Amino acid sequence: MQTFIKYSLLLFIVILTCFESSYAQSSKFVIVLDAGHGGKDPGKHSKYGLNEKDIALDIVLKVGKELEKHQDIKVIYTRKNDVFVTLRGRASIANKADADLFVSIHCNAHNTSAYGAETYVLGLHANEANFNVAKKENEVIFLEEDYEIHYEGFDPNSPESLIGLTLLQEDYLDQSTQLARYIQDNFIYNLKRKDRGLKQAGFWVLHNTYMPSVLIETGFITNKNEGKYLNSKKGKSEMSDAIYKAIVKYKSGLNGVSESVKNADKNVYPEINFKVQIAASKRRLETKSFNFKGLKDISREHVNGLYKYYYGNTSDFNKIKTLKQEAKFKGYHTCFIVALKNGERISVDEALKTTSN
Ligand SMILES: [Zn+2]
Repeated sequence: MQTFIKYSLLLFIVILTCFESSYAQSSKFVIVLDAGHGGKDPGKHSKYGLNEKDIALDIVLKVGKELEKHQDIKVIYTRKNDVFVTLRGRASIANKADADLFVSIHCNAHNTSAYGAETYVLGLHANEANFNVAKKENEVIFLEEDYEIHYEGFDPNSPESLIGLTLLQEDYLDQSTQLARYIQDNFIYNLKRKDRGLKQAGFWVLHNTYMPSVLIETGFITNKNEGKYLNSKKGKSEMSDAIYKAIVKYKSGLNGVSESVKNADKNVYPEINFKVQIAASKRRLETKSFNFKGLKDISREHVNGLYKYYYGNTSDFNKIKTLKQEAKFKGYHTCFIVALKNGERISVDEALKTTSN
């Protein structure tokens, strides 16, 4: 009998531990870091002997090392060494992990002495140059067997083929753009890299991820100086640090609340309307619950060519936090709280500093 009690107790502890660890797991912010190319696909290379796949991997590993120091972040790599991973495989790793963010890191190449950094979100290429960058990154599918089957007629060489790609990422465009902006700003202002801009183009790997996603072209390995910089210890450290800091800033913005105000004891802010932004899209949807996974009290706003969709509307900060959890539970994993004062969007931090009665 005593043995039975002992075993029951042991079983109970095991169950409790499993439950706790799985809970801790799910509450982490999951980031997938994607080092472009690898193995039989070297990516771009230069006459100075540089390979895109090597530089991309070194930068990714450095970004990951810093992110791993955060207890509330889980980092997943599509590759940690020199192996070939299909574009499908990369997107699938991110989707299976139900990641909150996908960051793909690459290097550029050109037959001129072009240089500079650019960060992409998925979209229609605004011009031929953008199309060519995406085309080069997409061409890796030709290295895969049976690519005609797996990529459903997608042809990297056809601009029309890319148009159909953009729809799925639309919901995340707002957030992807936010992160891309932070990354690009760090490159330009902190590192004084040449700004080639925040751009849109049809990258297959971005199209197939179901989360905010960006693709970074860190610089041109075909430019003598930039190639040398990107391949140096200093260059890799600086570029990875800029990306790391941008990700952390993005993540803290999603939470919307700084530590100092998180524990504020007042909850109602009469001048403020808190809402949960669940989606942003070019499509105008009716604000009916069947369009939003059963959520009611949906509102819509048209800003800069995008429709933003919100769940809830309250001055009670505690209530909006509950609604955010609910929206996450329904599958809006990357939803976040926004604050409006007199109809104008302000930061949540700012909102929480307003006086309450
Ligand atoms: Zn690449």
